[in-house]
Amino acid sequence: MYDVVVIGSGIAGAAAARVLAEEQNKSVLVLEKKGHIGGNCYDEEDAYGVLIHKYGPHIFHTNDQEVYEWLSRFTDWYAFGHEVVARVGDQLIPVPFNLNTLKQVYGAEKAEALEKKLVDTFGAGARVPILKLREQQDPEIQAIADYVYENIFLRYTMKQWGQKPEEIDPAVTGRVPVVISHDNRYFGDRYQGMPKDGYTPMFEKMLYHPQIEVRTGVDARDVLELQEDTGKILLEGKAFSGTVIYTGPVDELFDCRFGRLPYRTLRFDFEHLDIPDYQGHSVVNYTVSEDFTRITEFKYLTGQETEGTTIVREYPSAYTAAEGEIPYYAIMNPENNKLYEEYAALTKKFPAFHLLGRLAEYKYYNIDAMAAKAIGLARSLA
Ligand code: UDP
Repeated sequence: MYDVVVIGSGIAGAAAARVLAEEQNKSVLVLEKKGHIGGNCYDEEDAYGVLIHKYGPHIFHTNDQEVYEWLSRFTDWYAFGHEVVARVGDQLIPVPFNLNTLKQVYGAEKAEALEKKLVDTFGAGARVPILKLREQQDPEIQAIADYVYENIFLRYTMKQWGQKPEEIDPAVTGRVPVVISHDNRYFGDRYQGMPKDGYTPMFEKMLYHPQIEVRTGVDARDVLELQEDTGKILLEGKAFSGTVIYTGPVDELFDCRFGRLPYRTLRFDFEHLDIPDYQGHSVVNYTVSEDFTRITEFKYLTGQETEGTTIVREYPSAYTAAEGEIPYYAIMNPENNKLYEEYAALTKKFPAFHLLGRLAEYKYYNIDAMAAKAIGLARSLA
């Protein structure tokens, strides 16, 4: 009855489903465990009418014009250059650390000479990962690297990952490089902004297609069975010969038989305040103090005008698979990647079964890269 079953309706599942229905003329069943679509991009109004991101702040940014145009079919944009500051003592400093931060930290006079040195060394506009900056021999650059490491990366990363910056995959801290420019924006991409009416309506439009059926509140493990001895897939007890795209955690498909894949989870502490402004910024990172990593104030992300304001604090911890806990970040390292590959290998017995997404691929995808990957996979499936 269906050509394709897609497990999960986050950006991976939703984009794949749309392309399969629209371009490949497939009939697609989307199964979503949560009670709503959109995965962790899901947003909704809270009890006070403030549009919040239930699973933490998601800011769209991309250099990929094709993805931008593809998503623009499902939403207009609130063009918004996301800026982040870090609370360091009684100061708020721009993050990523850039030439404005340099000036604020060192004072105008000293910063001028240092700025010249940074520009001469790396080039204007360069984006230098902190671990690379730390390798520099010049004592003045080393001092800047020490400042950035100590005040921006060390404790934030300890909170977020339970490990030091040099112990985690370098690509992770490389997401927030030291930027040799006066641009305070968090991302350097050409297109950045928020879906004008929110992410959820964008997903609704993406999934609104006569050949897509969406069922929420359905755990795929209750309806889909991978028969390892026969290489067959059963859907609701009957042999299913179509394609399956799975965007959930791959270990759970096989009852975690090699042990659980490690992830980091987050606890979100929402608070509504009857004041128009709490912090004057969309995101403040707490890079040296507190147990939470950051506070997001949603009205500054979405541009929504509301009387009161809603904020959320993020408390990271190890994912334990306890009821209600959500795995947000794969902890990519050689040992965990190897365990992941062992699970992924089990799916090879099923040629029409595809792993897609942050969880299923054990990777750190941004929205744009995920959409591009999903669109590409869907187009490759004849
Ligand atoms: N990071 C940090 N301090 C900051 C911002 C980021 O140490 O002020 C590090 C931290 O390890 C974090 C990583 O850089 O996990 C990537 O940050 P990003 O903001 O991209 O994380 P996300 O928004 O995806 O959670």
